[in-house]
Amino acid sequence: MSEKKVPFDKELLYKISQREGTPFYIYDGKAIVDNFERFKKAFSWNSDFRNYFAVKALPNLNILKMLGERGSGSDCSSLPELKLSKEAGITGERIMFTSNDTPNEEFIEAYRLNAIINLDDITHINALESAIKGFPETISFRYNPGKERTGNVFIGNPVEAKYGVTKDQLFDCYKIAKQKGAKHFYLHTMVASCELKRDFIVQTANSLFSLVKKIYDETGIRIEGVDLGGGIGIPYTPDAEEMNLELLSKEIKELYDRIIVKNGLAPLKVFFECGRMITGPYGYLVTKVRHVCHKYKDYVGLDACMADLMRPALYGAYHHITVLGKENEIKDHKYDVTGSLCENNDKFAIDRPLCKIEKGDMLVIHDAGAHAHAMGFNYNAKLRSPEFLVNPDGDILKIRRRETFEDYVAPQLFNPEKLEF
Ligand SMILES: *Cc1c(COP(=O)(O)O)cnc(C)c1O
Repeated sequence: MSEKKVPFDKELLYKISQREGTPFYIYDGKAIVDNFERFKKAFSWNSDFRNYFAVKALPNLNILKMLGERGSGSDCSSLPELKLSKEAGITGERIMFTSNDTPNEEFIEAYRLNAIINLDDITHINALESAIKGFPETISFRYNPGKERTGNVFIGNPVEAKYGVTKDQLFDCYKIAKQKGAKHFYLHTMVASCELKRDFIVQTANSLFSLVKKIYDETGIRIEGVDLGGGIGIPYTPDAEEMNLELLSKEIKELYDRIIVKNGLAPLKVFFECGRMITGPYGYLVTKVRHVCHKYKDYVGLDACMADLMRPALYGAYHHITVLGKENEIKDHKYDVTGSLCENNDKFAIDRPLCKIEKGDMLVIHDAGAHAHAMGFNYNAKLRSPEFLVNPDGDILKIRRRETFEDYVAPQLFNPEKLEF
């Protein structure tokens, strides 16, 4: 097992903790940008290739701006996400609006921003039309393959999924949208989550490319682009291997040549909307040990808790832990690593082999760059942690301050408003 490394100078983390306290999140901007560029380069054979970064993975303006400046799109599914994207300078067709159970105001804002609106249901064609009092020239549909595909533990089985239109409905969707005035058509699916098997993603490309042909054959409608969704996984455990993007691209290109080019359906834009794969490995939760307790088991109590990072408690997810400054000590102890919530599942790790840990040690929790801070919550009146970004120039930026009691309590009315009807 190779040990996961912390890319920052230890002294820097100590200095930040002295000035700003713990816990905090810190992101490696250069690694994020390099990874994003590598993804783009791998798919450069497709001249319109784009990754729409899933805003929900890391909804911080500075991160979105950093990616947006380099040509990233954004994948939004709510009004605040649309607004964040706009604030970060990502608008127009660089926004993919993939919502479900969508309220009118979100259709209206997505249309106003000229986003690609990706409809989740056949009834949403009329819902969109009545919301915006017209119909967009560009439209996309989210396809649910039903029993043709299987899911995994994170995303579940497509037949059970609330998302997307069925194969039968799909053809009608495009025909109706065309009658309503649409001129540019896209096709989307999202069947993977945290998937490290290349073949699974290649299968998705196969299924969408084949559908592009079928839609053309049956309706005469030319699909201009396919969005293969997000869901490319990252290696959370030290022995897992990251997705080989170059091989993934090569295998998808072979299908593209065979299904799209050969049938005269090129050019076809290829999109992804990965969040986790872009930022996940490059974010770290830095936290300090408050107490080491010996009960029936040995416990390490941190100043971070499940409200900072809920993946371990939610899915039993593995997040690697480095004890700063003790990287080379033997892991001859075993601990449950906990937070301070009044919930027994508030644990970052269970029976984790670690070196001997003492009060005051600083721990770095890895792979916290996506679906981490974003999933945070305020239960037990826990206040959200600050976020720092070491940008590609090496500057250390505070991109979100620590939440205060005043922030937490702001929506509560000490002088209640009496509703009189
Ligand atoms: C969550 C989500 C994504 C991003 O998933 P990752 O696992 O972060 O790549 C992309 N598209 C849709 C529609 C999603 O719901």
